[in-house]
Amino acid sequence: MADAEKKTNSRQMLARLREVMAEDSAGQARLDTITKLIAEEMHCDVCSVYLFRDEDTLELCATEGLKPESVHQTRLKLGEGLVGLVARKGQRINTPDAPSERGFRYMAETGEEMFSSFLGVPIQRLGEKLGVLVVQTKVSREFVDIEVDALEVVAMVLAEMAELGAFVGEGAALTARHTLPVLLRGATGQEGAAQGHVWLHEPRVVVTNPISDDPHRELERLQEAVEDVRVGVDKMLAGARGGGKEQMEVLEAYRMFANSKGWMRRMEEDISRGLSAEAAVEKEQSNARARMQQVKDAYLRDRLHDLDDLSNRLLRTLTGQGSETGAEMPSDPVLIARNIGPAELLDYGRSLKAIVLEEGSVGSHAAIVARALAIPLVIHAERITTEALNGDHIMVDGDQGVVHLRPDDTVVTAFKDKIAMQAEAQERYASIRDKPAETRDGVTISLKMNAGLMADLPSLEGSGAEGVGLFRTELQFLVRNQMPKRSELSALYARVLDAAQGKRVVFRTLDIGSDKVLPYMKPNDEPNPALGWRAIRVGLDKPGILRMQLQALLRAAAGRPLSVMFPFVAQFEEFRAARAEMEKALAREHTLGHIPPESLEIGAMLETPSLAFAPDQFFNEVDFLSIGGNDLKQFFFAADRENERVRRRYDTLNVSFLTFLEQIVTRCNGSYTSLSFCGEDAGRPVEAACLAAIGLRTLSMRPASIGPVKNMLRRVDLGELRAVINAARDAGEQSVRPRVMEYIKSTSPTR
Ligand code: PEP
Ligand code: MG
Repeated sequence: MADAEKKTNSRQMLARLREVMAEDSAGQARLDTITKLIAEEMHCDVCSVYLFRDEDTLELCATEGLKPESVHQTRLKLGEGLVGLVARKGQRINTPDAPSERGFRYMAETGEEMFSSFLGVPIQRLGEKLGVLVVQTKVSREFVDIEVDALEVVAMVLAEMAELGAFVGEGAALTARHTLPVLLRGATGQEGAAQGHVWLHEPRVVVTNPISDDPHRELERLQEAVEDVRVGVDKMLAGARGGGKEQMEVLEAYRMFANSKGWMRRMEEDISRGLSAEAAVEKEQSNARARMQQVKDAYLRDRLHDLDDLSNRLLRTLTGQGSETGAEMPSDPVLIARNIGPAELLDYGRSLKAIVLEEGSVGSHAAIVARALAIPLVIHAERITTEALNGDHIMVDGDQGVVHLRPDDTVVTAFKDKIAMQAEAQERYASIRDKPAETRDGVTISLKMNAGLMADLPSLEGSGAEGVGLFRTELQFLVRNQMPKRSELSALYARVLDAAQGKRVVFRTLDIGSDKVLPYMKPNDEPNPALGWRAIRVGLDKPGILRMQLQALLRAAAGRPLSVMFPFVAQFEEFRAARAEMEKALAREHTLGHIPPESLEIGAMLETPSLAFAPDQFFNEVDFLSIGGNDLKQFFFAADRENERVRRRYDTLNVSFLTFLEQIVTRCNGSYTSLSFCGEDAGRPVEAACLAAIGLRTLSMRPASIGPVKNMLRRVDLGELRAVINAARDAGEQSVRPRVMEYIKSTSPTR
């Protein structure tokens, strides 16, 4: 059908489409006109628009050529029939003989068995699947490239029309999507429940003019915008010369795309078919996002992300819509982003009610900051950035990892109850803030807080913590773009000590490596980073940073007591070597005439099972030990703490693990070594009570956990709890949890 090929003129088709869009008709009538127009322009017997009714149902919303009575009646599941396949894969299907294709489904109500050739393309906007546009002919033929391209361009315009509310009316499947309630399931990044209104970290750029009849001008606009972005990237590259390799790589990738001929060519072709420059960029971006969802290779995915970012820049340049879209941040913002860096998150600070990320991980820097700020965080909430619009009402359940977007009344009521219960509990915690964490049988547990940012320190007062049991110094390194100077660090540590007002602060030296990669340090390609070159191993092999940090700590203390501990010590020798560095630093400070600390305690974190079996001499020499339960547990069970699949498989209250912890307690008691526990489990009330029952007397946790843990400790009798644990152990049970829960239920909730 060379004839048809010649006559398919996409510019003409788009020009007519624009006329239809300018007409007064709306909704179904307009959609009907459009299908008729496309069928005519493409010389096809059928043109149909299928739109998503819900996540996995497509509905025939308009047709020219199929039976009119099937409109809004015919529905398909995602993946069902050729239309469903196009929708699922986000890829076109072009076949001269549809009935013989795998997956073809005969729909009697439409009368479609009469049609042989089938060309279906996805209607998608920025990776969000909206529906499928189909043309069919009776005569068997394969659609040629020019026709396929034309239909894809039209699909792109349709997607934009939906965004503009063009289909409001009975066929409003699309527009309605952004008004319907949506429930999204992700994973917990930080517990807590909150409600508020959506604030998009990167608001979507709205393309208001997808069609243009002056391709010349549009080509110029595209070229100018690409040039602008290219110059911008070059500037960033020049500025980043002192920056880390990783940053350079990202910028190089940007440049590669900005110079990529294929990418430019495809956009130029789309413009010559009648799209505006921004619509052409967006079409490419949609394709990249669709590919992103299918690519398994992490490196390729990252490159597609880069392309996505580059497209965003281009769109902002072309539409003049910066991050500043003029929208006003709501008073109760819930931040929505694909991902976010720790520094950006700190910029928002405590103003945020909650955070929902499409990506992210429990151990990501953003999660660490969210935890430090005690802001509920849900990660892996797929589609949130495409579903949410600025200002939407949103409820975030950080405990369950669930997000209710535009919730209906029943959800709102239930959720408000949850928030009220939380508030009630908070009141209860506030009422015991100044009381000791004393168990019913008169044992007092010392509760400390974990910190890492200046933003944490006000909590020292508010939470009732007795001091800082773990100050994660790496957070200060992670939130910067370059290595901090010694003078900056010592000023910062001095401020931490000032804020602590005499309460003890245990500084942990830099714990980098594994998931904590400094943006300005060369990343190490290690097969198992958690078991790799990290923490004290880096500190001892490349002692420059360790020395600088120790000096900064000594100077900050100047005449005040100082406690320092080394992370991830696996054997006695490492501790000795690290302590020798401290002694050297102290001697050096002395020579330089600086005031030494009033007292100096040097401890270690017990995070590897090997250290629990270190010689007695180690236990005698070390001033104090702190169990890093997060790491210790992952190595004890050989279960990656970052891997959602295995992370929850092993219970902290597993009898073997508790027995192991108890042996550490016994060894420390035997050598009079002071011992604390500072992993996440210390902040979980039931776990904390069990840790106390097996003999731990100091627990360090997030500030927000101090109230709930104290409440629990005041509720239990450690002697009784110990007997419960022993009984479970004697009975050969795997975990003591069921019996412990039973016991807790039998105790009175308040005291
Ligand atoms: C731990 O491993 O338990 C710990 C407290 O250190 P981090 O979580 O920073 O590795
Ligand atoms: Mg650790």
